[in-house]
Parts: sequence; structure tokens; C-alpha cells
Amino acid sequence: MTNDYHFETGIYRPPSEGGSASLLVRFTRNCPWNYCTFCSMYKTEKFELRPLKEIKSDINAMAALAGDLKSESIRLGGNGQITQEAIHALINRSPDLNFHHGADMLIQWLLSGGKTAFIQDGNSLIMPPKDLIQALTHLKTTFPSINRITTYGRARTIAQRSLEDLKAIRAAGLDRVHLGLETGDDELLKQIKKGVDGQGHITGGQKAMAAGFQVSEYWMPGLGGKEMSEQHALNTARVLNEINPHYIRSRPFRPIPDTQEYDRVQAGELTLLTPKEQLLELKLMISALEVTSKVCFDHAGNHWRTSKGDLVFTHDYEGYQFPEDKDKVIERIDQGLNFRKKF
Ligand code: SF4
Repeated sequence: MTNDYHFETGIYRPPSEGGSASLLVRFTRNCPWNYCTFCSMYKTEKFELRPLKEIKSDINAMAALAGDLKSESIRLGGNGQITQEAIHALINRSPDLNFHHGADMLIQWLLSGGKTAFIQDGNSLIMPPKDLIQALTHLKTTFPSINRITTYGRARTIAQRSLEDLKAIRAAGLDRVHLGLETGDDELLKQIKKGVDGQGHITGGQKAMAAGFQVSEYWMPGLGGKEMSEQHALNTARVLNEINPHYIRSRPFRPIPDTQEYDRVQAGELTLLTPKEQLLELKLMISALEVTSKVCFDHAGNHWRTSKGDLVFTHDYEGYQFPEDKDKVIERIDQGLNFRKKF
């Protein structure tokens, strides 16, 4: 492989970015917080800011690979379209591409039209704003076909940035931030070491909205177990009502080995909800929502089924539009509960 193709690709991105085959561009490595007790994503890794020069070099390498694929296509009479023949020809010329961690991702992105990009890893807003702006500008200039750029962010970091800086980052091309709310309950937030309380989530979320970002908030049904189910549901709805984000996404809690929450389950300190109790918690939370958000269940963990065997919720990335679809969602939950009457 020519050195021109060297770029890094991280592991994680939200499910919706997989659905749109987003280009994954790594601006930082791992998570600058890394204390959340349910999360294993970057636990063994150290956070690093990547120098702007390195990020730009990655973007240039992606452009070189995309450009060479196009040239192969033209040489083979494919009119610049990315064809299997062009891909095979380039791999024959640079066999090390078989072992490149990001080449397949880049090719899938090109094949899907090259429209969306996701900035990795866990909290890109931690970058000095001027570096983030320059990196975004370089990405958009290099790939003008990109019409949506998204990233993970932390509410606390956003709260610490000035509105002026956030607006400049938005203007440089960052369209959407995916925020890990998890819960709006202060007691539970402290237990999971999220590093922010409910008010901090509200401040960060509202500031992201005011800066013009599309805001996507993830919450975790079942995170408080039986012990905190009700307060988790009601305070999550309360905080989300204050933010009124564009998207509310459900990512049900699953204890992951080698995390503190897993150990708490094993020690009997956290009692997992049954599927029926999960649906009851969802019903409580959804019933208390007063938002104009899209409420989404776009994660495989939202697996509840009705007695007919179909999924209670669509896994569509655009989900249900509230308030119009609120009654429909509650009706679907009731259908799931009906199936689980005996459980
Ligand atoms: S902020 Fe996100 S990535 Fe970092 S530890 Fe918490 S959940 Fe994991």
C-alpha cells in the first residue's frame, strides 16, 4: 500500500450513521471522560487529541484513495463510477489495501453516494474550536458531496463552550451532535458517573439547540434497574421536555462484562427489568414526554414484540414524530404489554 492511503478509522459510530454508510473520520482518539460505569467502549484506551496536521493528512489520504478508484474506473471504461472492476484493479495494484482498516468503509461510502460523514471518537467538541473548525472546513472542501456531518459530544463540554464558538463550528459544517443523556435522574447520573447532572444535560442540550445543531439525545431504558425505574423514566422525560431535541433515541441498558454496572448486577445491587417491566418503564417515560422530537428505537436492543410476532417499534432512523405519533407509540407499547400479560 502506498503511504498516500494511510488514514485511521475508529471502531464506534451510532447505528444511524451505519445506515447512511457515513464516512468515518477520526478527529480524536477514544473518550476524554471515560468514567461512565456502564460503558466499555474506550475503557482500555487513552484519550488523545490528534494534531490538525494529522487529521488533514488522513482526509487527504481518503481523497487519494477515492481519486485513484475513480481513475481506475475511467481507465476501465466505467466513466468514473465506482465499479467492482475498478475496486479489484486498484487492490491488484496495491494488495495491502486488503489489510487496510478503513478502505472498505471508504468504498461503501463512495458506493452510497458519498453524502454523510461522522467524526470519531467519543467527544469531538473537546477539540480547540479553531482546530475543529479548520478540520471540518478541510473535510468539506475536500469532499464537496458531503451534505451532513455528525459527531458524538458531551453535554458538559458543550455547556463549557461559548455560544459564539458553537455557532462557528456549526457554520463550518457540523450539522448534528449525538449526546449520551442516558438518564435525566440526578441520583442515577451520579451512580453511573456520567459527570453531569440533569441541569447540566439541559444546559448543554439547550445550548446545542441554540447554536443550530440537530440534537440527538440517547437514553437508556432499564439503566436504573427495578430500584430506580420510576424516577429514571420521569426525570428523563422532564429533562428531554426542557431540551426538546430533534431526536430522542432509545438504547436499552445491557450490562456489559468488565463494567461496574455489570458487577452491580452480579452482586445483586442492581435488579434488571423483565421485558414487561421494560415496556412499563417505556410507557411511563413516553407518556410524560411533551416534545416535538422524533422518537426513535433504532437499535437492535429495542427488541420487544407483540403477540403477532412483529416488533413493537419500528427500528427506522427517523422513528416517530411527536406529538402526532405519541398515541400510536403508547398503543404499540400496550400491544407489547398485552403479549406479556403472563410474564
Ligand atoms: S462519555 Fe460516552 S464514551 Fe465516554 S465513558 Fe461515558 S458513555 Fe463511554
